[in-house]
Amino acid sequence: METLPLYREEFVAGAVPLLKDVFIPRILRQDLSDPGDVTNRLAAFRGNRMAKSMVEMAFWDLLAKSQNRPLCQLLGGDRDQIPVGVSLGIQKSFSETRDQIQKHLDQGYQRVKLKIKPGWDVDLIRDVRGAFPNAVLTVDANSCYTLEDLPVLQELDRYGLDYIEQPLAYDDLIDHSKIQARLNTPICLDESILSAEDVRKALEIGAGRVINIKVGRVGGHLEAIRIHDLAHSKGVPVWCGGMLESGIGRAHNIHLATLANFSKPGDTSSSSRYWHRDIILESLEASQGWMPVPKGPGIGVHVDWEFLKSSTVYRELIRP
Ligand code: MG
Repeated sequence: METLPLYREEFVAGAVPLLKDVFIPRILRQDLSDPGDVTNRLAAFRGNRMAKSMVEMAFWDLLAKSQNRPLCQLLGGDRDQIPVGVSLGIQKSFSETRDQIQKHLDQGYQRVKLKIKPGWDVDLIRDVRGAFPNAVLTVDANSCYTLEDLPVLQELDRYGLDYIEQPLAYDDLIDHSKIQARLNTPICLDESILSAEDVRKALEIGAGRVINIKVGRVGGHLEAIRIHDLAHSKGVPVWCGGMLESGIGRAHNIHLATLANFSKPGDTSSSSRYWHRDIILESLEASQGWMPVPKGPGIGVHVDWEFLKSSTVYRELIRP
């Protein structure tokens, strides 16, 4: 697991004491009737959305279980399976990239996302598009480019990409609006979006036309729903990103992605692509590009306590 702040500012070693000393004690033994009560209790604390979302998402799961309903119903979704794509890291060569794409298209995945970076972009996409003229392809730059790279991004316009994800800085909206105005391909915002307010501002200035929702990044399901609804009202599609979750987080993502405006395939691919063995008893595996929504109350999966115990490296007991 990544333990350094290499995506946004948060990281595990920072989140643990904050959860233990501040967030969780403010939730335990409180009278909480809905998820809004949880977010309100933590609202005074700035940022740290991933840590907050851990508490908030656990509450949603408990709430759904207390009502004996699947989480997706409480969130407002009603699908029993969701479309999924894959995200492929940077491979050693173009031919290895093509092999990986072929393998995942053969498995039925509905879109392939390729990581790009300066020097590993236009030539790669030209090569891949030549081999897969009809595949739904996207690229994710994870903030590797600057305004000066506009000509490179404009070259990518030729290859029918579904979107270009987060080309510019992780905390930028303004420059994204400048390049979106000069690209035909939609920009999809990932790192830059932390809230529905960010989405409102981004859409107001034309910084993107697709939104990647990661529940942790935005502070929980409640904010994810707000973003989903706002984007929906503006005709902007969203999809569910992934942070290499274990089965618990993956199940949350799948339930969230049952909402209507998650109209593009998400990164919620099979657990076995990430783990030799997951920490839940159920298997979360996509079939022909569709991930079934776990059935049963709450997130619908159960922790494999025996396996979790055998792989535990650190344990913390938190009391009110
Ligand atoms: Mg991304």
